[in-house]
Amino acid sequence: MQIDAEHWLSSARRCPSPHFNERPTGEISLAVIHNISLPPGEFGGPWIDRLFLGTLPASEHPYFASIAGMEVSAHLLIRRDGELVQYVPFDRRAWHAGRSEYQGRSNCNDFSVGIELEGCDDQPFEAIQYAQLAQVLQALWRRYPDASGKLAGHSDIAPGRKSDPGPCFEWSRLHALMPAAAAPEPDKTGCRGE
Ligand SMILES: [Zn+2]
Repeated sequence: MQIDAEHWLSSARRCPSPHFNERPTGEISLAVIHNISLPPGEFGGPWIDRLFLGTLPASEHPYFASIAGMEVSAHLLIRRDGELVQYVPFDRRAWHAGRSEYQGRSNCNDFSVGIELEGCDDQPFEAIQYAQLAQVLQALWRRYPDASGKLAGHSDIAPGRKSDPGPCFEWSRLHALMPAAAAPEPDKTGCRGE
């Protein structure tokens, strides 16, 4: 897996989002893991792309009305079947973390890469998603050495406000695929299917 000169992952489908801007210092020193599904708990469909493109149709589902018009994005999405979709080049600032703090530093969007797993808090993720995530992280760490081993869940940088990637995300499973990762301890409570 390679990251090209324009900071796009060669193996990802490109779906350029308008929701990005410049990183204040250019620093890339953290990867933040999220989950997302639209509508919540349903997988497949075009809606995550549409949210990050700013074209989610509010009329299509009651939940969409509450989030349509939000200007959000992530750098990368890993779908249930392992497909990689990239919305923002890694050297630009995507809008995924919101109000957040990592090791005493706020505004994590400034210096982090946002990686969404298609999923939700109460269902296990797919094996292919862990495998792809491990490959993506290793490609990121090769290209952006300041980010090596720096990994957090959205819930770690926005505690009380965000719960993703959630109790079903098995940090230990990611560790096993990528022994160098410095990830939070696993918390499996509340995961349906385990
Ligand atoms: Zn999140």
